[in-house]
Parts: sequence; C-alpha cells; structure tokens
Amino acid sequence: MKLRIAGVEKDSVVDGAGIRYVIFAQGCPHRCPGCHNPQTHDPSGGELVALDTLLADICRQKHIKGVTFSGGEPFLQAQALASLGRELKHKGYDIVTYTGYLFEDLLDLSRSRPDILALLKVTDWLIDGPYILEQKTFNLPYRGSANQRVIDLRQFE
Ligand code: SF4
Repeated sequence: MKLRIAGVEKDSVVDGAGIRYVIFAQGCPHRCPGCHNPQTHDPSGGELVALDTLLADICRQKHIKGVTFSGGEPFLQAQALASLGRELKHKGYDIVTYTGYLFEDLLDLSRSRPDILALLKVTDWLIDGPYILEQKTFNLPYRGSANQRVIDLRQFE
C-alpha cells in the first residue's frame, strides 16, 4: 500500500509531545485562509511512497517518541494511514493526527466509513478543526489557532 505525501520531518518538537516523526499527507480540501502549507493542497501533488519505506525510515530514527500524521488532510488517506498507524502502535509509538475536520463530524462519517473509524482508532491524540486566521495564536501547544482542540482518543479504545 502507498501513501501520497508532501514530505516528512524526522525530529519535530512542535507537532505533539516529545520528539516526533511527522508525515505531511498530500491533499487538503479545506483551503483555510492563511494556511502555512498550501503546497499540500493538490491531491495529485507530492509523491507516492510505500508504507514499508516509511515504516523502515521511522524505525531508523532511534530518538523519536511518536509519529504525527499532519498535512494536508490525513483523513483523505485514512485507510493507508490507519494501516501504517497499526504497525507503529505495535512497535510502541504513539500517534498524533491533525485534521481540518471537527471530531464530531469525523465520528458521524465513521458510521459509514470504516477507513475513518480505523484512523480514529489508531490515533492517541487528535488535533482537530480548520486553521482560523482571526484566531491565530502562539500560546497553545501544537496548535495554530485557538479554535483547534487536542482531544485524547485513548478514552475511546
Ligand atoms: S486543514 Fe491545514 S493544510 Fe488544510 S488548508 Fe487548513 S491549515 Fe492548510
């Protein structure tokens, strides 16, 4: 299975707790004004990478605590990221997933979309909501605007 990505960051400290490997999924429908990653919007841009290749690269980074799925919109490729997330959880990594959707909307969608439910199930912390320029903040960890929430999904396991 392959994932279309805009790129990776191998030692981020701003995308969740601890030192993290970040995968920037390619493709985003939200078009938030002021978005810092407009190069991730085109769903046919970026590059296709095999999940095994990503997994091997993550495992080579001995200092990381967890893996963050960012974007772009990770839920556009929920099946591939859920599959990768399951492998990573078995290896002991925790998972942060960013999304421009609201958690409540993803829950509604997950009733008819097993791929979305599967990505929610492998996610430990969901950081949800679109980036809202008028609510831009530098004071909330891991978030760009004050509307975004850090939701602990471990309570739903
Ligand atoms: S959800 Fe994220 S990547 Fe997508 S437009 Fe909004 S800020 Fe940009």
